Amino acid sequence: VSGKNDASGSRILVFVRLRPMAKKEREAGLRCCVRIVNRRDVYLTEFANENDYLRLKRLRGRHFAFDAAFPDSTSQKEVYSTTTADLLEQVLQGRNGSVFCYGATGAGKTYTMLGTVENPGVMVLAIKDLFTKIRQRSCDGNHVVHLSYLEVYNETVRDLLSPGRPLVLREDKQGIVAAGLTQYRAYSTDEVMALLQQGNQNRTTEPTRANETSSRSHAILQVVVEYRVRDASMNVVQRVGKLSLIDLAGSERALATDQRTLRSLEGANINRSLLALSSCINALVEGKKHIPYRNSKLTQLLKDSLGGACNTAMIANISPSNLSFGETQNTLHWADRAKEI
Ligand code: ADP
Ligand code: MG
Repeated sequence: VSGKNDASGSRILVFVRLRPMAKKEREAGLRCCVRIVNRRDVYLTEFANENDYLRLKRLRGRHFAFDAAFPDSTSQKEVYSTTTADLLEQVLQGRNGSVFCYGATGAGKTYTMLGTVENPGVMVLAIKDLFTKIRQRSCDGNHVVHLSYLEVYNETVRDLLSPGRPLVLREDKQGIVAAGLTQYRAYSTDEVMALLQQGNQNRTTEPTRANETSSRSHAILQVVVEYRVRDASMNVVQRVGKLSLIDLAGSERALATDQRTLRSLEGANINRSLLALSSCINALVEGKKHIPYRNSKLTQLLKDSLGGACNTAMIANISPSNLSFGETQNTLHWADRAKEI
């Protein structure tokens, strides 16, 4: 396992999930350029045009290894239990944790996080698991669960459970909070899938593709568990744990703006949030004193879920198609770096 426990308690586990080839892609004759072996090794192959001798000469297979790599047949439950179940356990001990899905648009981030009614994803499975675990506790009546679901789009924060005007971030005793954000009190799993589906539909769409979530939108679900326990001297103390589950914006724009000059404010802002996230994670795991949370709305919101007493998991989502080779390679390189820090 490449994640580590240092003095600050920060730990990052890095996972890769390959999505299945879509029917359309298969029918179009696209080829699979990714192979996953032993649940941890990822091999990437570049197919060259058979007439392109120069490229054929440079043909290469690349190998990466991660804490776990999920082949396209992996169930939502297995992804949940390998990446997130341990973090949920920590949240019930009063610690914070976060899980990110990173990758290009179409690589399977939203499927992994939200999923479908038939195949619910990490967000829903985490809440289901949470209620199961609370019910198993002797003092289950003591537990209060609140959900908030918000979007960062173009450095603007919006409430996905109650769409309206942008929210202002404020710093108070508890840390940075989005003023007026809905705290939905959840009592059972049943209501949650519909709530999250609806929230997801409230994400910003591009005017040109009215039914598709913008690839520039970051969605953050925060699950807060409050409960009371007796400490060693039998005093009742309040504990709070928070799990943040994040469906990040498409990484392709961050990469594009990296290479060219910053073309538009929108592009620049996506770049800013993803880059800010990378630099915070780098700084944390290197044990730096100064963590640059202030550089973006995303990192400000996640300030209490990234540093200190919390654990982080990254799921890098990749597409199998040879047309996505470049993006897949970029995602794997990024994940590989995150693994080593
Ligand atoms: P992203 O959010 O990264 O842009 P999506 O999650 O929307 O990508 O996935 C793109 C398409 O692929 C969707 O139609 C989705 O249902 C499908 N898909 C993604 N991952 C899987 C998977 N593991 N199994 C089945 N279908 C998937
Ligand atoms: Mg998506």
